[in-house]
Amino acid sequence: MIGIIGSGTMGSGIAQVAAQSGFDVILYDVESAMLARAISNLTSTFNKLVEKGKLKQEEAEATLARITTATSLNDLAGCDFIIEAAPEKLDLKQSLFSNLESLISDQAILATNTSTLSVTQIASGCKRPQNVVGMHFFNPAPLLPLVEVIAAAVTADAVVTATLDLAKHMGKTAVQVKDVPGFIVNRVARPFYLEALRLLEEGVADHATLDKLIRDGGGFRMGPFELMDLIGLDINYAASLSVYESYFYEPRYRPSLAQQRMVESGRLGRKTGRGWYDYNKNEQ
Ligand code: NAD
Repeated sequence: MIGIIGSGTMGSGIAQVAAQSGFDVILYDVESAMLARAISNLTSTFNKLVEKGKLKQEEAEATLARITTATSLNDLAGCDFIIEAAPEKLDLKQSLFSNLESLISDQAILATNTSTLSVTQIASGCKRPQNVVGMHFFNPAPLLPLVEVIAAAVTADAVVTATLDLAKHMGKTAVQVKDVPGFIVNRVARPFYLEALRLLEEGVADHATLDKLIRDGGGFRMGPFELMDLIGLDINYAASLSVYESYFYEPRYRPSLAQQRMVESGRLGRKTGRGWYDYNKNEQ
């Protein structure tokens, strides 16, 4: 049984991947409205897969039936693997892990889907830090094949191996990485977002022009502003801030004020209907 903490962008995607790989899943969130939204989105995703002939109706129903929801952490007591996809806040993840630890078995593994936080620091508040590991999926989790498996300084080798095996069982390409800020992909991706934001702030071009240039000229599938809207501006900003602070305020990673203001105004991207683009007007 796999437990998933947080039913937002990542948690619901990971729940889909796990259920499609044959696991029973308990999806937990503090907000029952988020759980209802996740189940409704998953239902329409499976319906579309059936319509396209990629999944049989009975397979879709059986897969969806493997996902149950919970608003009490106690319901996760029987899980042997828990993947946390709650907001990118260290104290939140630390307190979730120490609460979960008192409920689950001594062997159960606690994995965090953090984008940039130190897995070692998340594990540091736990009584069994050797059972804590990073399992970093990419957005959208059902489509993107890569999973970074992060061995914290304290993670037991057997826990790392079990996590790599689980990712492979889910059909993913699992790569073991060291516990450094942003791991590999989010560190390499920082200049992609931050330089684009600097060009915008300097008035060199507007966001749509920058996206078009990078797509058409650079061969990227999405421009940086489209990708920020997909990821969630709050999540993307938190990742930049965390990498900047963790590398001792390295100027190359300095976050963007323009992006901070967008987050403060609640324009978080697709999930709120408005980010750099307005999804209510069907822009993009
Ligand atoms: P999100 O904002 O879409 O969803 C977060 C969910 O967590 C919400 O449903 C919220 O109700 C829930 N939540 C809030 N407090 C909680 C608590 N105390 N316990 C349980 N659930 C709680 O966020 P997301 O984009 O899914 O990101 C989740 C994690 O995954 C973050 O650590 C993020 O850095 C990481 N991540 C995000 C992406 C991405 O592209 N969005 C990619 C890889 C990793």
